[in-house]
Order: sequence, then C-alpha cells, then structure tokens
Amino acid sequence: MSRKVIGFHYTVKTEQGELIDTSDGKTPLLFLEGSGQIIPGLEKELATMSVGDKKDVKVDSDNAYGPINEELKYLVKKDQFPDGSDVKVGDQFQLENDPAAPIFTVTLIENDDVFIDGNHPLAGINLEFNVEITEKRDATEEELAHGHAHGAGGHQH
Ligand SMILES: [Zn+2]
Repeated sequence: MSRKVIGFHYTVKTEQGELIDTSDGKTPLLFLEGSGQIIPGLEKELATMSVGDKKDVKVDSDNAYGPINEELKYLVKKDQFPDGSDVKVGDQFQLENDPAAPIFTVTLIENDDVFIDGNHPLAGINLEFNVEITEKRDATEEELAHGHAHGAGGHQH
C-alpha cells in the first residue's frame, strides 16, 4: 500500500475541555503518513478515515507528547543566569546550543530560586481531538523523497 498524504481540520482540547489549538478558520493541516509529523495516537486513527469523515479521538499522553519526566525539572539560582537578565515566569530558553535540545520554561521564581522545566508543555496531558478529513491521496514521488507533504497546509517551496 502506498503512503498517503492526508489533510484534516482539527480542534484539540485537554480532557478537562481546555482549548489547546484549532485549525478553525485556517488551512487544514496536511501531512505525509509515517513522517512523524503527527503524534502516533492520532495518525493511527486518521489513517483509517475517509474524506468527509468526522471523529472524536482521545489520545492519552503516552501516545501524544509522553509522560512528564521529573528529571527535566531543575532548581537553579538567579545568579546562574547571565548578568542583567531579567528572569520571569514563562521565559523559555535552551541550555544547549542544539536545535533538538529541550526547551526549558521558567515555572516559578521564589527569591533567588528559579524553577525550570524542560518537558514539552503538553507532556503528561491526555488530549481530545475533534477531526475532519479534508483530503486523502497517494503521496507523489517528490513528497516521498522530501519526507513531507507539499501544497496548502503542507510545505511550500
Ligand atoms: Zn518538499
């Protein structure tokens, strides 16, 4: 079976009903099957659906952004930040000069103590998607060679 390019509209919420993201009012998201662009628990469902199908899909955190890793939570001191930096809750930074390194977020500041967390913001969260398939077709040779979908909602180049 050839790999497909799948387009879909989505709304994603936490299981408590808090809105995380939606494609509402935007171009549907387009992706190449098996390229790792879509979390595994969702891609598995999308692969079984046809154009026009709508579905609610629950994806637990293990099949989404993974569990929370306590080892990525650190306590550092304010004076470990560069001189003159005005550290605030919500600030994000990388400890290593590598695009793949975890992104740390400042979660709490108490006096000189700064708590930072390198988990993905959605780690440990069970997600609820509402999806609608808008497009499904065989991937082109070029898309397979590039490893991603082309066109509106995919890569433009
Ligand atoms: Zn390309």
